[in-house]
Order: sequence, then C-alpha cells, then structure tokens
Amino acid sequence: MEIVNPFEAKGKWYKGNLHTHTKNSDGEFTPEETCAIYSKAGYNFLAITDHNRITRGVKAPDNLLLINGCEIDVQNFHIVGIGMIEEFEKEGMSPQQVIERMKQQDAIAILAHPYWSGLTSFDILRIDGYEGIEIYNQVCQRMAGKGYSTVHLDEVLQAGKKTYCFAADDCHIESDIANGFIIVKAMELKEKEIITSIRKGYFYSSTGALIKDINIENKTIKVYCEPAETIDFIGYNATGTRLASEKPIKYGEYEIKGIEKYIRIEITDRYGRKAWTNPVVYL
Ligand SMILES: [Zn+2]
Ligand SMILES: [Zn+2]
Repeated sequence: MEIVNPFEAKGKWYKGNLHTHTKNSDGEFTPEETCAIYSKAGYNFLAITDHNRITRGVKAPDNLLLINGCEIDVQNFHIVGIGMIEEFEKEGMSPQQVIERMKQQDAIAILAHPYWSGLTSFDILRIDGYEGIEIYNQVCQRMAGKGYSTVHLDEVLQAGKKTYCFAADDCHIESDIANGFIIVKAMELKEKEIITSIRKGYFYSSTGALIKDINIENKTIKVYCEPAETIDFIGYNATGTRLASEKPIKYGEYEIKGIEKYIRIEITDRYGRKAWTNPVVYL
C-alpha cells in the first residue's frame, strides 16, 4: 500500500491558481492587474498561462509568487505547462510531443478541461507523462456547464495510471477569479519548492471546501474538514462509500478493504463547493 498524504508532509500551506489568461491572449486584464487581483484575494502563487506564449517580465506584488506557464493546444488537447522556460513551435506536434517538450524544460504538464474539450478517457489513456488532469475548470463551468471532469479522472485512475487532479480558474474575466484553486504543502514559497511538492502530490484542490487533516493508519483513513454535507471515499469501480448527513459533517473515516486500487476523497459543503484530494492511497 502506498500512501500519499500532504497533511503529513513538512512545510506550510500555500494557495494558488495554475491556469490564468491575461490580455496577452484572451483574458480581460493586463498581467499586472491580474496579479494584483489574485494577491488581494489572498493567493500565494499564480501561474499566468496565456495561449501558446509565456508572459514574461510581469511586476507582481511582493507577496505573490509568479510562476511561468503557457497553455498549448494541439488537436483537442489543451495542455498547461507550469514552470516552462521557453515557447516552442507546436505546428505538426502531437499532444504527446507537446508533453515531452514541456518535460524537457522540467515543467509540469496538466491536461486542461477534458470534458469541455470533448476528450474521452480513452483519448487520455493514449498519452503519458502528464502530472494530472483538471478535475474542475471554472471558465468551462461558466460558459458551458462542463467544468467537472470527474469521470475522466476516475477512468484514468482505474486503468492503473497514477495521476493527480487540479482545480483551476482558467481565469478570463473577473467573475472567474478565486473559484478553483489548489493548496500546496511546501517548504517555502519558491517556484522550485511549489513544483517539487506538486510532483510529490502534496496538495489538494478546492472550489471552497476545506480539509483540516487526514490521517491514515492501520487501514483506516480519517479525514477532518470544515462543515460538509457529504464526504466521499472514491475507489475503483463500485468500491468506496459516501458519508452524508443532514447535520454538517466535520469528520469521516473509511476502512480500506484492499480491493479499491486507489482511494481519493471528495468533500462537498452545503453550498456545493468541493474539495478533492489526489489519491491518498494506492493499493
Ligand atoms: Zn483551454
Ligand atoms: Zn485556458
């Protein structure tokens, strides 16, 4: 059994958004305005990911760590590269080749909004090397009600792939801001540390619901959270369970049976806001 529990990792929690557009592509605000808005909203880090270009030389507020990024679209895949150093010509490239080029730059590759893009999990299972899938994308939810790619994630996980899930604003206009974010446990608020922690799975995603602690011992997973309506422990096929109550729940536990293949936790509060862990256990 492999356990990946960010709540047992050393460091502090930092909140950030890894998918943001500015006037340098199809966003509403300049890069500086965008940084100022996120800083004011209490974010610790931000990746500006304009389409097919890296937005450089941005003056961000001192308390906001800015990470280079870029969103590259080929075929139906939109791939967000976090920590990219330079752009490359994407003409004629396959999604796999785009991911490889991102990895050559030591960047993280995230598959953006597969549901909205019309991708199936079968499409995703043909490629490799990405760190994760956007389980929630705010702009796709706002524009088309297709923000949630939950089934894509579970189908990829149950095929035996280890992958992470990300919530992101994909910010284009003001109302997109501060809806989907990740909270990373890292040693320091530095690009290298944030990226290292993401690679290790030391983060969770949220649209507002918050997790306080996770403890995994003796085949029991215990989760403590802000008041929620449901706590789901999700695993392979029909394994897992839902805890639900009319009264707010702040705690849930699940006994690992051994046939789940993976277990991730999804929490929903009374406003419909969610928190998603990455798989905390692989069997
Ligand atoms: Zn996109
Ligand atoms: Zn985008």
